[in-house]
Amino acid sequence: MFAKILIANRGEIACRVIRTARKLGVRTVAVYSDADARSLHVEMADEAVHIGPSRVGESYLRGDKIIAAALTTGAQAIHPGYGFLSENPDFVDQVTAAGLIFIGPSAASIRAMGLKDAAKRLMEKAGVPVVPGYHGEAQEIVLLASKAREIGYPVLIKARAGGGGKGMRRVEHPDEFSEALSSARREAKAAFGDDRVLVEKYVDKPRHIEVQVFGDNFGNAVHLYERDCSAQRRHQKVIEESPAPGMTEALRKAMTDAAVKAAKAINYSGAGTIEFIVDASQGLKADRFWFMEMNTRLQVEHPVTEMVTGTDLVEWQLRVASGEKLPKTQSEIALTGHAFEARIYAEDAAKGFLPATGTLHHLRFPDAAPPGATMRIETGVRAGDAISPYYDPMIAKLVVHATDRQAALEALGAALSRTEIAGSTVNTAFLAALAADPDFAAGDVDTSLIGRHQAALTIVPPPSGETIAAAAVAASGAGASPLSDDPWSSLAGYAHFHSVARRTWLKFGEDDIAAKVSVRPDGRFQVALEKPYDDTNSHDFRAAPRLARWPGHITVFEGAVGYTFAVSDPLARADEAAASAGSLRAPMPGLVKLVRVGKGDTVIKGQPLLILEAMKMEHTIAAPHDGVIAEIATEGAQVTDGTVLVRFVGEQAASTAVAS
Ligand code: ADP
Ligand code: ADP
Ligand code: MG
Repeated sequence: MFAKILIANRGEIACRVIRTARKLGVRTVAVYSDADARSLHVEMADEAVHIGPSRVGESYLRGDKIIAAALTTGAQAIHPGYGFLSENPDFVDQVTAAGLIFIGPSAASIRAMGLKDAAKRLMEKAGVPVVPGYHGEAQEIVLLASKAREIGYPVLIKARAGGGGKGMRRVEHPDEFSEALSSARREAKAAFGDDRVLVEKYVDKPRHIEVQVFGDNFGNAVHLYERDCSAQRRHQKVIEESPAPGMTEALRKAMTDAAVKAAKAINYSGAGTIEFIVDASQGLKADRFWFMEMNTRLQVEHPVTEMVTGTDLVEWQLRVASGEKLPKTQSEIALTGHAFEARIYAEDAAKGFLPATGTLHHLRFPDAAPPGATMRIETGVRAGDAISPYYDPMIAKLVVHATDRQAALEALGAALSRTEIAGSTVNTAFLAALAADPDFAAGDVDTSLIGRHQAALTIVPPPSGETIAAAAVAASGAGASPLSDDPWSSLAGYAHFHSVARRTWLKFGEDDIAAKVSVRPDGRFQVALEKPYDDTNSHDFRAAPRLARWPGHITVFEGAVGYTFAVSDPLARADEAAASAGSLRAPMPGLVKLVRVGKGDTVIKGQPLLILEAMKMEHTIAAPHDGVIAEIATEGAQVTDGTVLVRFVGEQAASTAVAS
């Protein structure tokens, strides 16, 4: 086994690899970009090396810097994770040339599977069924269009260098072919620097079922059963599971045989996935599955396989790369129970799954697995970390395992509804809706299920009166300490609040909400919603509502839905106006570089107060008006966006403490 490895990745997968390395007594080296200087993977690793600016082209894709980091730290091998350099055969060659071991397949195996057209030709030769279509060299439009006609519409145009669903267009009708082709080519050129395409039959009622394979350097190859990844949006997976619902012994045998044959055809070593597309229009039939592509790396969704097979695939990767044989033979690998993985993303499901950014001011996962299930949370972020525009907006993977599909699905729903995230738009409500979707629950899945049910899956019911009242109480500042999430924790302390009704203003989306909050003699809050709800019912809070306060906002959680309210009482509004005029809150996460004034100083409008360094640029924060400084951030402080940097005498104490 290795003594020390370097992980050429970030986020959850870097943390995941570090965990197994630690278990095996292997020391770890992390690499990081500017944006990741304080990220979790850096904190978890034994050592960390800075490799450049935030943009991936200048850091995580810089093979030369990563290899140099491995050599200086004395790491013997490099684990690439997924994405980034994981499927780059030139990088593998460079790693090997530097005398290091690449924890993954050989450059030759990666090359053989790297382009979808060549991979399909190779698989055809090996006797693996491939998706009917054209995967030749010639690329003239007339030829491609006539191939499409031969194949029969609908067809799917795919970038041969594609990945992550990019450069793919479904075409319904010959009239649309040439336009779809140009747009697929443009996207492919921009994303992969290669605009060659293949044309495939668009499979009817398609299900994405893939097989996990594993090979070693002694010619052994096994499979670890299938995963169903048919729940997709934008051709990308959101919930994966194992086993595939409705899987038959005949189809499983045919698919796993084909997958092992494919792996053996390229002398595959390490973890890999053979992705198949299955025509489920007449149920699952053993002659209706076709090879789509091979991913020559560890897959994002590998934990579901680990759950049902009781293996640690990263451990297998390290063992195989260090020269050991596969830890288990085929007959020793059994499938038990059912597992699901849900990918929690910062994205707006209601707006076409648009990626989102923001600071995760509040991040709480269930602290225990739902009854009867086991659970894993795979994440690379902590509360306070930012989801930046530089990287994949995945926040976490929630993985559950139980005895059967129904129990596992219930556990998934339960775990999602106990997950609380505030500070960015997230997809937890969408995932919970999908988990509860009747077709999904029945196992009647195909890749267009999400598209078909999109409206129902993305509609969020308006907040209940109870939720608004909870937000109003929190916003009224009813005794909550600015750092506590729970204004209900110490009700007894608010005697001074008795009989004093306080008016609070909130904003929910476009709606302005006014509420009157008072404390009754028995210590309970009474909330009257005045506008626009005219709900004068009093709302008692026997149980503290689940909520999070973050700069300028309150998020109340109802199940998997987080309702975010902007707090806008007049004092705060004045504060905000001043802040927006002079940016007294940090506009983005950054470092307080230089503080030019101190507490008690009199400043004039426009005077520079401090310099914030963010995204490699310096931003001067100037006084929005004349005044006397009451509080100011300390030099060297790391701040998240929305953190109050400066407060003037006479202004309301900030809702967040000044960073120190
Ligand atoms: P799968 O492994 O199931 O095929 P994807 O295609 O979604 O799933 O995963 C690969 C993608 O993950 C890469 O193309 C890249 O966009 C993204 N990615 C790469 N590195 C990371 C990372 N450290 N954290 C999150 N996402 C990443
Ligand atoms: P990527 O490299 O982007 O993962 P894939 O070839 O694996 O590209 O395809 C991504 C997704 O597109 C699949 O998971 C599947 O949902 C859909 N897809 C791919 N090929 C077909 C096809 N021939 N018919 C129907 N759907 C397909
Ligand atoms: Mg794929």
